[in-house]
Amino acid sequence: MLTQAAEGVWVHESVFVQTNTIVVRGDGGVLLVDPGLTRAELDCLAGDLAELGQPVVAGFSTHPHWDHVLWDARFGDVPRYGTARCAAAMEEELSHAGAKDDIADHLLETEIAGQVPLDLLGLVTGLPPGATRIPWDGPAVRIVEHQAHAPGHAALLIEDRGVLIAGDMLSDVLIPMLESGGVADYLAALDLIEDVAGQAGVVIPGHGSVGGPGQARERIDLDRAYVLALRDGRAPADPRIGPSAKPGWEWVGDVHEGQFRQF
Ligand SMILES: [Zn+2]
Repeated sequence: MLTQAAEGVWVHESVFVQTNTIVVRGDGGVLLVDPGLTRAELDCLAGDLAELGQPVVAGFSTHPHWDHVLWDARFGDVPRYGTARCAAAMEEELSHAGAKDDIADHLLETEIAGQVPLDLLGLVTGLPPGATRIPWDGPAVRIVEHQAHAPGHAALLIEDRGVLIAGDMLSDVLIPMLESGGVADYLAALDLIEDVAGQAGVVIPGHGSVGGPGQARERIDLDRAYVLALRDGRAPADPRIGPSAKPGWEWVGDVHEGQFRQF
């Protein structure tokens, strides 16, 4: 099911960790950002797009993690963009025999084991290094590239819709996950995103709920406070962990414990 987030912008939410696919209407078709996750959900998305009467003209992956680089043949053989670093990281990962088996094995630990189509995973076309726009026929989409959470991670700002697509940051349910890059990279990324957040009346995280006016800044503050606490060895006062975590998200506390030990 597609839910409208702004004029010409829709979100499809997966049952798995509230993963968001974003659909942006352009002049001759739609841009798909991070489409996923299960076959049933991709069926649903393909059906919704058919109902909209919109072909897919381009894709974009915010970062090189399996849940953000999926695709379905029905979306067509169109360019699936990412930053140059994202594409390079994906290419490197897929150069290892068994890379997809490793992802499938990881998924065995989840409730969507065997349900995610991996055949078209990771076929990302890198944009030129430093590219600041997605090349497509539609509303201008600014790329804010940084190195927090994953190499070549991109936040996207759809300028005239006031929509910020945050990738795996600014979530109301997930804490900052410093899987690659360190504290300094994370703080630098939040600064870069903050520079454009004033233009965003809507924030769409890779996982979690869509936020309205003021939410982008609030979530930046929350993420920054978490990362600073991690840096300083303090226990963060963060509603996403501990007793205030949303039901079903208690495991985020374990992620925090692991990060707390590491940093
Ligand atoms: Zn990720």
